[in-house]
Amino acid sequence: MQLLKANGISDIAHKIFTYPFYDIEKSGDWSASRIIKPIQMSVLLKKYDRQIKVYSHSLYKQVFGSIIHLGLEQLNLFGGESEKRITIEYMGWIITGKPDVLVDVEIKDWKTTSAWTLFYGSRSEEWKQQLSIYRWLKNKESGLVLSDGGEIIALLLDWDEELVGKSGYPEFPIMSVPVRLMSLNETEEFVSEKLCALAIAFGLTDNDLPPCTDKERWYNKRKNKYIRCEKYCLAREFCQQVNKEKI
Ligand code: SF4
Repeated sequence: MQLLKANGISDIAHKIFTYPFYDIEKSGDWSASRIIKPIQMSVLLKKYDRQIKVYSHSLYKQVFGSIIHLGLEQLNLFGGESEKRITIEYMGWIITGKPDVLVDVEIKDWKTTSAWTLFYGSRSEEWKQQLSIYRWLKNKESGLVLSDGGEIIALLLDWDEELVGKSGYPEFPIMSVPVRLMSLNETEEFVSEKLCALAIAFGLTDNDLPPCTDKERWYNKRKNKYIRCEKYCLAREFCQQVNKEKI
């Protein structure tokens, strides 16, 4: 990915926005967070990685999230094992994942997100899949069977005190979200199916890639918008589905 500097962005701001906060997956690897993405998006991101151009400042939410993560890692509030990457080989692929914290036998992950994400529950399924893959990876790596109950600690960057009381709106700017994880067998089946689908999709032309569903695109009925396509998908420029729709 090429990170561009917009006119008017200072050198120090660009340096912060382009800082590699995390060790990223190597070419050929699949990370837990990449496996849970829509097939079309995953394939396009890998295929066009070198051609994707992004203005560095447009990544500000991810960067702020990374900085908060680093701070929390330093604080080590829970004790336990923190930010340790797990790597295994499975079906000929290298699969990796990096849970934020492992305390005793429970996985906890920090997420910086919007209060509306909790309100609508729009990421619940993804969080369940991501934590389930971490649990499965840990079992594959060490034989350890972690608890099937995980926890997301959500830091709500746009939390608005004035909306507290509205039915379903988070009561506090930091919320604990318990997550019931898939069984190890269910997770293995999920990962295997996804890897097979990815292997097939890599042989297809861009026009034939399986389209992302409304759910995967984070369709907002009230705004009639595909939030992920418009704001969060770096593969958008190369996506035939969106190009045909002219979103
Ligand atoms: S732009 Fe939207 S439809 Fe296209 S790959 Fe990204 S999420 Fe899917």
